[in-house]
Amino acid sequence: MRAVFFEEFNGPISIKEIEVPYPAPKSVLIKVEATGLCRSDWHGYVGHDSDIKLPHVPGHELAGTVAQLGNQVKNFKIGDRVTVPFVNGCGTCEWCKSGNAQVCPKQTQPGFTQFGSFAEYVEIQNAEFNLIPLPEVISFEVAAALGCRFATAFRGLTSRGGIQPNQLVSIFGCGGVGLSAVMIAKAFGVRVIAVDINEVALANAKNAGADIVLEAATAVEEIQKLGGAHISVDALGSQLTAEASVKSLRRMGKHLQLGLLLTENGLTPMAMARVIGWELEILGSHGMAAFDYPKMLQMIVEKRLDPAKFIKRTISLEDAPKALSNMNETVQDGITIIKP
Ligand SMILES: [Zn+2]
Ligand SMILES: [Zn+2]
Repeated sequence: MRAVFFEEFNGPISIKEIEVPYPAPKSVLIKVEATGLCRSDWHGYVGHDSDIKLPHVPGHELAGTVAQLGNQVKNFKIGDRVTVPFVNGCGTCEWCKSGNAQVCPKQTQPGFTQFGSFAEYVEIQNAEFNLIPLPEVISFEVAAALGCRFATAFRGLTSRGGIQPNQLVSIFGCGGVGLSAVMIAKAFGVRVIAVDINEVALANAKNAGADIVLEAATAVEEIQKLGGAHISVDALGSQLTAEASVKSLRRMGKHLQLGLLLTENGLTPMAMARVIGWELEILGSHGMAAFDYPKMLQMIVEKRLDPAKFIKRTISLEDAPKALSNMNETVQDGITIIKP
C-alpha cells in the first residue's frame, strides 16, 4: 500500500510502498477514506513526540470502512463505515471500563504509538472497544475532521466544563481547537467571547458563532467588566493565554486547558493565589473516548453542530508529505483533509 513515510525526524518524507498491516486478533484493518492533517502530525514529524519510533507513518484523525477483521472481532463486518478517537483504549483497565479510555494508561494512538492513517490502510487495536459506527449522513471528510480538535473541545466543554445555557464562556486562541470550542459552546446556548491577537482569527470566530470578539491585550479586563467567565478555555497553549484565561474567570469559574503546553520542563507558572481565593477549578482534557461520541454525532446529525464549515481544502496522499513538512512555514486556516 502507499503511505507517507519517514525514517528520521525532520528528514526526508515521501510516499513509499509498504506492506499492508495484518490485523491482530482484536484489531481491524481500516481502508482510510479521509484523514485530517493536524499540527500534532507536524510535531511528531520534527521529533517533539517521544511515543514515535522510527521509521514512521503519521496520521491520527481518520474515517473509513472496515477492510479486514481480526479473528476475535465479532461486532463489526467488512464494509462498515467507522471512525475512531485519536486515543484508543485497551478496553480492560479501570479507566476504559468507566468510559474514560481517553486517559487509558495502555492507550494506543495511530500515527504516534503505531503507524497512522496517512496511508491506504491503518490497523486499529481493540477494535470492538474503539470503533465508532458512522451515521450514513456524516461524510468521511467530516468524521475525519472530528478526530482530535473538535472532539477534544466537545469533551472539554461538556464532560469536563459542565457547560450550561446562559453562561459566559471565553475562548483564548481561535485556531482549530478554539474555533471548534466557539461553535460547540454556542450550540449549548451560552454567550461566547473569543479572544485572539489576529484579526483574521477573530473574523473566523465571529463566523463560527462568537457573540463578542476581543483583542488579547485588553480581554481580561473586558471580560471581568462583564462579570467574568463561568468557563474559560486556553485553546492556544501558552503561559500567557493560560494565565489570561484563569484571570478572566468569575469566582468559582472553571479554566479548561485544551491547547498543549509544550514548555521546556513541562511546567507552567500559574496564578495559584487567585485559584485559591476565588475557588477556581483548573481542568485538563485529552481527546474523547468512543464511549462519548454518540452525543456529539447526534448533534451533527441534527445540524446543531456543523464541523463541515471548518474544512477548507482536500488534498491527495501524494500532496501530503509536502503539506506536512511545510506546516510550520505556512499558516493555513481551517482543516485540511487528505483523501488516500
Ligand atoms: Zn484501558
Ligand atoms: Zn490532531
